[in-house]
Amino acid sequence: MPVLQSYIAGQWLGSTAAKALPSAINGDIIAHTHDESIDFSQVVDYGRHQGLSSLLALDFQQRAAILKALAAYIQERKEELYEISHHTGCTRADSWIDIEGGFGTLFTYASTGRKELPSGNVAHEGPVTQLGKNNHFNGTHILVPRRGVCVHINAFNFPIWGMLEKFAPAFLAGMPCIVKPATATSYVAEAAVRIINDSGLLPDGALQLIIGGTGDLLDRLEEQDFVTFTGSANTALKLKSHPNILARSIPFNAEADSLNSAILAPDVTPDDEEFAIFAKEVVKEMTAKAGQKCTAIRRVLVPDEHVDAMADRIKERLSRIVAGDPKEEGVRMGALSSDDQLRDVRDAIGQLLETSECVFGRSEGFKPVGKGVENGAFIAPHLLINRNPRQDGGAHDIEAFGPVATLMPYNGIEEALRLAAKGKGSLVTTLTTKNPAIAAEMIPVLAAQHGRLQILDAEAAKESTGHGSPLPMLKHGGPGRAGGGEELGGIRAVHHYLQRTAIQGSPTMVAAVTREYVRGAKVIENDVHPFRRHFDDLQVGESLLTHRRTVTEADIVNFGCLSGDHFYMHFDDIAARKTQFGQRIAHGYFVLSAAAGLFVYPGEGPVLANYGLDTLRFITPVAPGDTIRARLTCKRKIDQGRASPDGHPQGVVMWDVAVTNQEDELVASYDILTLVAKQK
Ligand code: NDP
Repeated sequence: MPVLQSYIAGQWLGSTAAKALPSAINGDIIAHTHDESIDFSQVVDYGRHQGLSSLLALDFQQRAAILKALAAYIQERKEELYEISHHTGCTRADSWIDIEGGFGTLFTYASTGRKELPSGNVAHEGPVTQLGKNNHFNGTHILVPRRGVCVHINAFNFPIWGMLEKFAPAFLAGMPCIVKPATATSYVAEAAVRIINDSGLLPDGALQLIIGGTGDLLDRLEEQDFVTFTGSANTALKLKSHPNILARSIPFNAEADSLNSAILAPDVTPDDEEFAIFAKEVVKEMTAKAGQKCTAIRRVLVPDEHVDAMADRIKERLSRIVAGDPKEEGVRMGALSSDDQLRDVRDAIGQLLETSECVFGRSEGFKPVGKGVENGAFIAPHLLINRNPRQDGGAHDIEAFGPVATLMPYNGIEEALRLAAKGKGSLVTTLTTKNPAIAAEMIPVLAAQHGRLQILDAEAAKESTGHGSPLPMLKHGGPGRAGGGEELGGIRAVHHYLQRTAIQGSPTMVAAVTREYVRGAKVIENDVHPFRRHFDDLQVGESLLTHRRTVTEADIVNFGCLSGDHFYMHFDDIAARKTQFGQRIAHGYFVLSAAAGLFVYPGEGPVLANYGLDTLRFITPVAPGDTIRARLTCKRKIDQGRASPDGHPQGVVMWDVAVTNQEDELVASYDILTLVAKQK
C-alpha cells in the first residue's frame, strides 16, 4: 500500500508506513500516513523566505493568470481524482462537488483577480477622502500582502474543494500556504497536490502539504501569519485559543459545525409545487455526500398542520434512495467517510432519539449494494420528528454529520424564527415561500443569525444551485456556532488575507503610493496626446487639458433631435423655469459627448476600445452660454497579460475625466475604461 508523503520545502517526505487509511466503501486499506516526523521550523522558514519572495516577485494579475492555468491543468487530470475520491464513499455527484467545485473555484478566483485587482501588489480601496479644505491633505485605504504564511487546516469531507477554496484567495493575496488535510481522506488531498506539483505552475514555496499532525507548527507562527480552520467546534475552540495564536493576535478564521434549517413558510400547502420542491431539497441535502456537508439541512421546520404530510413526502423520496458502492448501477448515496464517522453518527442519532421519534431509518432492512460493502461505513438515511421543538437541546444542539434530519412543527412565523435561532448561528437556511411579503419579513430577521439564505420558490427552483452549495462568489461562513468565520464571497476572501491600512498625505503622495491618479495630484503634461501613447509608454498621471467649447441652444436642440430626448428640462422653457435650475439646461449626455469631442485624438492610434464608464456624476448644470472644457488623465493601468482577438497585446487603462465650466466648477466627473495596445 502506498505511503502518503508530505510536501515540505520543495521535497516529498515519507516512506515508512504509520496509520492505515481504509476505504469507506469496503474497508480495504488505501494508503498509510508516513511515520517520519516533520521539521516545522523548516516548513515555516521555507514558506516565509522562499515562498514569500517567489510569490511577491509576481503581482496580483500574474498570480490570477497562474490560477487559471492551474485550474485548467487540474481539469485535464480530473478523472484521476474521481478514481481515488470514490474510496471516501462518494458517488460521482458527490465527488463532482469536491473536484469540479475545487478547480471551478480556482477558475472563479482567476477571473475575480483579473477583474478586480490591479497590476502590482498594492490594491487601492477608495474612494479618496478629502481631509483638508483646499485638497492638500487626503485619506484613503490600501490593501497589501501580509508578510507571513497561511496555515489551512481542513475537514475530511471536501479534501480538494476545502483545500482549493482557501488556497485560491490566499495565493492571489500573495501568501504561501501550508495545507493540513484531515487525515481520514488525506490520500485525496495528496493526489491533488501531486497533480498541482506536476503542473510546474506554482512558484516555489507557494504550497506545502502536511500529512498527519501539525506538531509544534502553531507555536512557530508569528504576527504576520494567518490560520484558517474547518472542522468541529471543539477543535476550533482548542486551536483558536492556542496561547501563541492569542498572544500574537494571529487571525484565525473558523468554519465549524452548524445546525442549518429549512423553513417551509405558512403560505405553502401540500397542493403547491413548492411543497414538493421543499421535500426534494431536504432529501437532496440528507443524501448528497451521505449528509456529510457542513451546510446540510439538519432541522426541517414545517407548519404544525403540514408536518405529517411533509414527513410522508420525504419518506416516499427516501425510500427510493439506493445506497452502496457508487460504482454499482443506480446507487444514489455512498458511505460515510470512515468507521469513526459511522460511530459518531450512530451516537448522535442515539442522542437525538431522546427528544425525537424516528419516522424513517431502515436500519433493519438497510442493504447497501456492492462487493465488500459490509465492511464499508454505510448508514441508512434517518428522518426524525421532534414534536416539542420549543425545548432547547436535541436537534438544536446535536449535529449528526450524516444522512440525518429532524422535522419540527411550528405555529406562526414568529415561532419559526425563534426555532431557527436556536441553532445559535448557522451557515445557511432555505426559506420556501410563494409570498414575497413573507420573504421580506423573515429574511432580515434570519440574516442576523446566518451566513447565507436561500429563498426557494417554483421560479428559483428551476435554476437553484442548491441549499448546500457554497459558491465562490457568495460568502460562506456563519456567526456563532457556525464558527464566526467568513470565506469566499468573491474579492472579499482575497481582502481577508491582505492587510488594510489607512494612508494620509497630499494628493501627489497618495497617488504615488496607490499608483492611481488622485484629483489634485501633480499631473504630467507633454506634447504627445495621451491617446497616442502605447500602454507600455503611458504613465499614470499623464494628462491633457482641452480647449474650450461654449454650449449653445442649438447644441441642446440638435442633441434632443438626434437622441429623441425631449425632456422638459431641455425643451420647455416655462417648466424649466419652475425647477431648481431656473432655466433650460443641456442634457447630461450631451456634456459627456461634447467632452469626448474635446479630448479624443481623432486619428488612428493605440486606443483600441472604450468599453465602459464608471462613477459618472453630473455635478453642476450646464446652460446655454456656459463654456466647458475637460481634463483627461491616465488614472490606472492594469496589465492582464492579454491580447486582442487578432493577437495584439493590450492592457486596460482607466482615465479620469473632469469637465469644468468657465468658473472652474466641476460639471461632470467620471472614469472611462479603455483597452490600449502595447508596443510589443
Ligand atoms: P476535527 O475538528 O476533528 O478535525 C478538523 C481538522 O482539524 C482535521 O484536519 C484534523 O486533523 C485537524 N485537527 C484536529 N485536532 C487538531 C489539533 N489538535 N491540531 C491541529 N489540527 C487538528 O473535525 P473532523 O474532521 O473530525 O470533522 C468533524 C466535524 O467537523 C463534523 O462532524 C462537522 O461537525 C464538522 N465539519 C464542519 C465543516 C464546516 O465547513 N463548517 C465541514 C466539515 C466538518 P486530523 O484529521 O489529522 O485529526
